[in-house]
Amino acid sequence: MSFFAYKNGEMHAEGVALATIAAQVGTPFYCYSAAALRAAWKEFADGIKGMNASVCYAMKANSNLAVIRLFGELGAGADIVSAGEMRRALAAGIPAKRIIYSGVGKKASELMAALQAGVGQINVESSAELETLNAVATQLGVTADITIRVNPDVDAGTHAKITTGRKENKFGIDIDLAREAFALASRLPNLRVVGVAMHIGSQLTSLAPYRSAIARVRALIGQLRADGHTIDRFDIGGGLGIVYADEQPPSIADFMAVVAKETAGLGCELTFEPGRRLVGEAGVLVSEVILVKPGVSKTFVIVDAAMNDLIRPTLYEAWHDILPVRERQDTATIHCDIVGPICESGDYLAQNRDLAPLAAGDLIMIRSAGAYGAVMASAYNSRPLVPEVMVDGTRFAVTRPRLTIDEMISAERFPPWMEPIKS
Ligand SMILES: *Cc1c(COP(=O)(O)O)cnc(C)c1O
Repeated sequence: MSFFAYKNGEMHAEGVALATIAAQVGTPFYCYSAAALRAAWKEFADGIKGMNASVCYAMKANSNLAVIRLFGELGAGADIVSAGEMRRALAAGIPAKRIIYSGVGKKASELMAALQAGVGQINVESSAELETLNAVATQLGVTADITIRVNPDVDAGTHAKITTGRKENKFGIDIDLAREAFALASRLPNLRVVGVAMHIGSQLTSLAPYRSAIARVRALIGQLRADGHTIDRFDIGGGLGIVYADEQPPSIADFMAVVAKETAGLGCELTFEPGRRLVGEAGVLVSEVILVKPGVSKTFVIVDAAMNDLIRPTLYEAWHDILPVRERQDTATIHCDIVGPICESGDYLAQNRDLAPLAAGDLIMIRSAGAYGAVMASAYNSRPLVPEVMVDGTRFAVTRPRLTIDEMISAERFPPWMEPIKS
């Protein structure tokens, strides 16, 4: 079921017309459906029933406080990749014990903040990090529960910029070097090894890479136990894909069935770290057409959202479905690019689309924008960070307001040697 649908010819998020939000908040804005977020969570909650498993929301996909809190209240932990994300998770009410700290380049100061807050698990990605973490833990007089993230060298079959589980990627410790890393960890007195972690990529639409990665890590777990390590947890990571165009990502039930089969008898508590799958389809970006510029080969529809608001098309060649907010009955189309006002040729949201004719003032909805959308937004061209709105039934609320230009520039300073501006 879709939580974004036409009713009486107007696109709605649940029970709220997007045009109503646009009139109040202005454009562009992101809109998240609470019901869609809950439905995505329920798939995971149902999927792990009967398993010794937990789900930590990978909040880098969408770190809006209201979104994190919604998942936290449903029982989610958080997978974080920075001390800043930790502060957000805590501010949204996620208990520290339910936080997993991932990331390839954690600073000593960040590790210290994490240990002081009491995060439940740190997924270490290098020998250097083992040493640093041990030093910080020693200084604080605590023992850090860790897993080591291994890189199982499988091809996730996704875009090159979002695959993480190949030898040539920077993530994790090469599975062939993992035993040495575990040996080092066990010699470091203020680390307690609790398990193994992996995360092989993002937007996976096939279960085969999970199957082979789990099989490889499973073999490693056998060796590690033979080496005398206690391996109680297996962190499977995230990466499950969503629908942008015509992808057919596996159901969570099918995914869990594969995981259950591949980990049967292993005796490990499992952790899942979904990001995109929980939020991607639950969010849209709404924008208004500024003007339409006909060209020789195609028409440019210039809208008020741009690459600074949604960089996925530019960065990943991502394809997002675009729909008019007011439903069209006519079948006429124009061949067009949907572009933003930014001074970059890479500033486009869609290229070579055949869409219903658009005119200045029309609203459009960019679908499946809930993941890696608002979090990647910038203020390039001094465009205020795009606001975020949550809809729940017939209610909506702005969960991150649009800053005014005055608020944006008030954070900056002139160096003291510059004369004050004369007014
Ligand atoms: C990004 C990330 C995730 C989430 O990935 P999705 O593709 O959004 O599910 C999970 N775990 C780790 C370690 C990550 O870096």
